[in-house]
Amino acid sequence: MSGRLAVIGLGPGDARWLTPEAQAALDAADALYGYRPYLDRVPSRIGQARHPSDNREEGARSAAALRHAADGAHVAIVSGGDPGVFAMAAAVCAGIEAGPEAWRTLDVAIVPGVTAMLAVAARVGAPLGHDFCALSLSDNLKPWELIERRLDAAASVGFVIALYNPISRARPWQLGVALERLRQILPASTPVVFGRAVGRADEHVAVTTLAAADPAAADMATLVIVGSSQTRAIARPGRTALVYTPRAVQGVSA
Ligand code: SAH
Repeated sequence: MSGRLAVIGLGPGDARWLTPEAQAALDAADALYGYRPYLDRVPSRIGQARHPSDNREEGARSAAALRHAADGAHVAIVSGGDPGVFAMAAAVCAGIEAGPEAWRTLDVAIVPGVTAMLAVAARVGAPLGHDFCALSLSDNLKPWELIERRLDAAASVGFVIALYNPISRARPWQLGVALERLRQILPASTPVVFGRAVGRADEHVAVTTLAAADPAAADMATLVIVGSSQTRAIARPGRTALVYTPRAVQGVSA
């Protein structure tokens, strides 16, 4: 049997956001690898081995999965959301680049998923309706100074910003510092969306303004969207405000 490695996006929530392609790839795997909470979202099946690992072990996890696939197995690595967005697909590519020549001939499939920013955006309207960027606030793999430069640059040129990994136990201060920097550049009334555990039972979505945004409202399962100066929030009685960024840019010179 020739080996195969699928890097599968599970989507941000429950099975409703799992694509049929991802489900088929899960069904076809002899062995599943992944961060334990993501693996826990996949129903176990007899005959399919499971290899949970810790969050920070991406390199070791992809190497183990690649070795296993090179032995001839059908192996799958699972990621939350999309595997190409701050997740395992890049770690697998890096493993192949650094690994033995034989890994380059492996059948590797990246199976896309709904990434968190799209799920959160959909809950509130269309905040990503015009140009936007995604930024991870985690400084595990890059210096904090670079994150600050990217925040300043993105806000200055009018990108809506989706902030992944806004906070963790090891980094309780970073979202607060990031919001404070953005307040120097963007209007106080800029809409900000906190989307927590979207698509799961404990989902919570809130719309606020940059002036009022409280970093304590975010945890590891939260994605924060900070609007641009163009982004608008429409108040709706009894409902979450509708947030959108118009397709046409107004009042901004080149
Ligand atoms: N590959 C994932 C992102 C991994 S980084 C994806 O494409 O979505 C982990 C971060 O994603 C979290 O800190 C949070 O910011 C965001 N996230 C993941 N699932 C989420 C969900 N259901 N609701 C809100 N944010 C989520």
